[in-house]
Amino acid sequence: MNFHIMTLFPDMIDNALSESITGRAIKNGLINIDTVNIRDFAQNKYGHVDDYTYGGGAGMLMQAEPVYLAYRSIIEKLPVEADDEDKKPRVIYMTPQGTTFTQAMAKEYSKEENLIILCGHYEGIDERVLEMIVTDNVSIGDFVLTGGELPAMMIVDAVSRLVPGVLGKEESALYESFYDGLLEYPQYTRPEVFMGKAVPEVLLSGHHKNIEKWRYEQSLERTRQRRPDLYDKYMNNKDKKTKN
Ligand code: SAM
Repeated sequence: MNFHIMTLFPDMIDNALSESITGRAIKNGLINIDTVNIRDFAQNKYGHVDDYTYGGGAGMLMQAEPVYLAYRSIIEKLPVEADDEDKKPRVIYMTPQGTTFTQAMAKEYSKEENLIILCGHYEGIDERVLEMIVTDNVSIGDFVLTGGELPAMMIVDAVSRLVPGVLGKEESALYESFYDGLLEYPQYTRPEVFMGKAVPEVLLSGHHKNIEKWRYEQSLERTRQRRPDLYDKYMNNKDKKTKN
C-alpha cells in the first residue's frame, strides 16, 4: 500500500515512520511512504508557500498553487487511470473541521492501494485547492495542532497495521479495542505476583472457555465504565441481532 504525504516537513514524517512496526513494514515492502515536499513547488525564488488572507485576520495561509502542483506530481507518478475522475485516489485533508477518525475508517482506508494525505500548516490552506482535490476531510479530535503531520502519521500508523502481513502473528489486530465495538479486557504478563497484586486466577487455569468468558465480561464492564457511548451502541446492536 502506498501513502503519498503532502507536507512542508517531510523529514518529520520519514523519521518517525521509519521506526518500529511501520519501519519494518517499509523495509519488507508492505507499505511505501512517499513524502512530497510542498515547498518544492513554490512559485517564487524564496520558497514561500504562504501568504496573507484576503479580508484580513491574523496568520498566514498556504497558497493553492504549490499544493495543487504537489498533488499533480503524485498523480503523474501513478498509473494513467489515476487521472480518470472515477478512479482518482482518495485525498485526505487533515483538518480539525473533518470527521473524527475511527477504527472503522482505518479499516476502510486499508483497502486502498494509494492514499494521498495532505497536511496543512499556519492557518490552513486556500479553500479553492481543497475544493478541487480533497475527497475526505479528517480530524483526529476536537483540538487544534500546529500542523497536519502528527495527524497524518496517526492515520498511516492505524491503517498500516491493518495491511495484511504488517503485524506479526503475536501482534494480531483481532480482538483489540474497537475490533468488535468493545474495549479490550485487561492483560497481564510475568511475574504472577507484582508488589502483592496477583494475576486473576482464571487466567492461570488453562480453561479456555472460562478465560474467554472472563475476558468478554471484563470487556463489557470496562466499556460500560469508560465509554458508555460505545457500550450503549454495542448493546443496541446485540438486541437487534437477537431479535432478527
Ligand atoms: N485555521 C484552521 C481552523 O480553524 O480550522 C486550523 C489550522 S491548524 C493551526 C494548521 C493545520 O494543522 C491544519 O491545516 C491541519 O492540517 C492541522 N490540524 C490541526 N488540528 C488538527 C486536528 N485536530 N486534526 C487534523 N488536523 C489538524
